Amino acid sequence: MKESLLEILRCPLDKHELELEDAEYDGEEIVSGTLVCTECGERYPIEDGIPNLLPPDMREEAPA
Ligand SMILES: [Zn+2]
Repeated sequence: MKESLLEILRCPLDKHELELEDAEYDGEEIVSGTLVCTECGERYPIEDGIPNLLPPDMREEAPA
């Protein structure tokens, strides 16, 4: 994902901003890392450049 995408991504639970932690870059693309909500502290993984913004409840139902 592009780093600029961070500005429009929001926590799905409370619509607050997300902070990037442990980011790994490939050029301008973020390929992995963790998005942390500045409000509720929920963490969302970035895997293979795709941010997984599913709320934790729904994540368990998704196939691994
Ligand atoms: Zn949140």
